[in-house]
Amino acid sequence: MDRLALHGGRKVRTTPWVSEFQGVEALGDEEKARVLAVLEKKRIFRYLADGYEDSEARQLENEYRELTGCSYALAVNAGTSALISALIGIGVGPGDEVIIPAFAWVATAAAVLEGNAVPVLCEIDDSLTLDPADLEAKITPHTKAVIAVHMRGMSCDIDPIMAVADRHGLLVVEDVAQSNGGTYKGRPLGSIGRAGCFSLQQYKIITSGEGGVVVTDSEPVWQRAAMYHDCGQNPFKYSERKIETFSGQNYRITELQAALCLGQIDRMRSIIQSMREQKRAIVAGLQEIPGVFLSSAFGTDRDLGVSAVLYISEADRVSSFAEALSAEGIPCEVIYRPERQNLHIYPFWDFLMQKRDPWGGGYPWNADAYKGQVSYAVDMCPKTLDLLGRAVQIRLNQYVTADDSEDLVQAVRKTALSILK
Ligand SMILES: *Cc1c(COP(=O)(O)O)cnc(C)c1O
Repeated sequence: MDRLALHGGRKVRTTPWVSEFQGVEALGDEEKARVLAVLEKKRIFRYLADGYEDSEARQLENEYRELTGCSYALAVNAGTSALISALIGIGVGPGDEVIIPAFAWVATAAAVLEGNAVPVLCEIDDSLTLDPADLEAKITPHTKAVIAVHMRGMSCDIDPIMAVADRHGLLVVEDVAQSNGGTYKGRPLGSIGRAGCFSLQQYKIITSGEGGVVVTDSEPVWQRAAMYHDCGQNPFKYSERKIETFSGQNYRITELQAALCLGQIDRMRSIIQSMREQKRAIVAGLQEIPGVFLSSAFGTDRDLGVSAVLYISEADRVSSFAEALSAEGIPCEVIYRPERQNLHIYPFWDFLMQKRDPWGGGYPWNADAYKGQVSYAVDMCPKTLDLLGRAVQIRLNQYVTADDSEDLVQAVRKTALSILK
């Protein structure tokens, strides 16, 4: 048997692995030209008296309406702001509970709290997304909405989620931050729930550094979200206001961000196509390796291929496996290790675990309007922690070649044969 690189054997791979970024690695002339044109026009704020309709921000909204088929889109300054605006948009507020998956991003939980509602945690399944089987168990008389997070490029199993939500009269918000451009059974992500939220931050598939978009088919949801994102004013300069004003934040996007993203959006299709292709090859190569199992959702149409995740059957071997695989030249990480902070996983959402608000009053848990009872503990989603504690993640992007995929598969095989036998 081949000696492991960890023990002085030859590395499977000696050249560096691809970067962890996608869209930002592809930044080129298109984006430069668009950003420069904005600078030359000296118009960097979206709402100026002339031409609301052809602002860069408006064009970006049009692109997202086209991408998702939704009637309304609102460009904002971040994915977090998109989530908060969408929650306010659908009418979430004091007294409400919102169910979120135990594996998401810390901002998903924070957005619920910023919407004055109480987050309730739900397990994930081996697709890395919300487990529809656990969703129903987490519903209480106070549940108003569910945030379905399409995590690590994996679409949620959204049909059963929608079925449970419909049965109980819950609204679904899709968090598409990590799966921009994805689909579920041919339907664009973001268009299936009441609202969909995108992020354009650097770690996402396409980016403008910071930025976000909300999409919806509901005019009142869009009007409420738009009102909230701009302190109750501007958006209605170019369309009739049909709701009462209320106070809000300033979550406006700049023309520079919007122009940058317009350059990126043209690249999204080819980025995704290339990632999907290599991911299918990787998943095919990783079948039937003793001690390693994959989700049946990996490599399917639900998978954009932003990372390769494999599960190790014996949890106590996972750390040595990941160490040995990295030594072979395939950098990887165990997603959940209790001693290492990972803000994608609920035990590390301190403010939630300890019910902390900015004022020290335990709001919104202690609010008069809230009649429910929620407590949080590190062991409350054992299935999620068990899965993520066995999950080894290797980051992928559009520059992974067939040779890279072969290296990955060969390195996993070699490592598994030594460590997991
Ligand atoms: C990145 C991310 C967000 C927040 O987006 P920002 O643009 O960073 O505010 C929300 N949810 C998920 C799942 C994310 O990955």
